[in-house]
Amino acid sequence: MKARKLWSWSLALWVLACASVGAAPAAAEPFPVRGLCIAAPAPRQVERFAAWMTNELAARGVNTLIVRVDFNYAYESHPELRGGAPLSRAEVQRLVQAGRAAGIHLIPQINLLGHQSWQSTPGKLLQVYPEFDETPWVTLPAKYQWPNPDRLYCKSYCPLHPGVHKVVFALVDELCDAFEARAFHAGMDEVFYLGEDRCPRCGGKDKAELFAGEVTRIQQHLKSRQRELWIWGDRLLDGRTTGIGEWEASFNDTHRAIDLIPKDVVICDWHYERAHPTPIYFALKGFRVVACLWNRAEVGAQQVRDLMLMRERAAPAVRQRLLGVVQTVWSGVDGFWREWESLKNDPPPPPDQARVARCFLRVSEEWKVAEKSQSDEALPR
Ligand SMILES: [Zn+2]
Repeated sequence: MKARKLWSWSLALWVLACASVGAAPAAAEPFPVRGLCIAAPAPRQVERFAAWMTNELAARGVNTLIVRVDFNYAYESHPELRGGAPLSRAEVQRLVQAGRAAGIHLIPQINLLGHQSWQSTPGKLLQVYPEFDETPWVTLPAKYQWPNPDRLYCKSYCPLHPGVHKVVFALVDELCDAFEARAFHAGMDEVFYLGEDRCPRCGGKDKAELFAGEVTRIQQHLKSRQRELWIWGDRLLDGRTTGIGEWEASFNDTHRAIDLIPKDVVICDWHYERAHPTPIYFALKGFRVVACLWNRAEVGAQQVRDLMLMRERAAPAVRQRLLGVVQTVWSGVDGFWREWESLKNDPPPPPDQARVARCFLRVSEEWKVAEKSQSDEALPR
């Protein structure tokens, strides 16, 4: 009885202690990563982009910029894979110089594994090297729609094709050299075609092991050049158990890869409809993670606040892995600039317009505490 009473008192004191902590939370530390992810500018946009980094992004606290380059670079190693209006090395150097001056770390991206087509059009890699296609029997339709009988979202390359890595790693190395990058983003989101039964190399293999094998191969390649790998996190979440579904999480049995890949991969945990509390899952598993958001300002603000709370509550080992947040932009650069400028109009556009820029504005207000502090806490190694 006495023991029970003592226990009750201890419990009451503990609840009081928690309540007082809740009433006066410890001062929030700045996020080590305050990022934006956007398409690479076209050559004609480079100067404006460089000025924008300083005048708008750095001014709002951004210190990390994921630049979705893909094939929009004048690759020397594989000129056959250059896109229509590729950036030259000198133009990329201009961006790097502007980023350095503004305190913004640039991370170039090429989508590897998935996203090798878009609707009716194959991506550059499969245009030039159709033998890398995981599903050559799936014809891209003249008029794309989802859902479709092939469950075609985007094509993938076959991760076990003996020739694919020699080509894609040459691009990765060349792009990272041009960007003087310490980190590279390989995409790897929404990989629906993987380990297909009809693929002579992958058929019958475990999809989690295939996915993990490809992540590990890319990570090892980068690591041998003192670079780190960033990827989107959706294939590492179980879409059924979590209720998150088949886009922001996996229905194709890849989620067990979370226990198979190296821990020094940085996870970009994207959720746009709801602030799923998944960053803590990745951090507790040993990964550094950034929460990524898009076009719902309320959801984005919630993700920022949730991350702050997780950082306050977690043990130091976990807190240091909860790196921060990244605003994603899925339009072109021009589209985002138009949205951003429209917010300066009086009156501003109606709430259903300029939603991505509005989200970024809101999120950068939420992380303002970070903006004011010049923390040198662990940027990507
Ligand atoms: Zn295959």
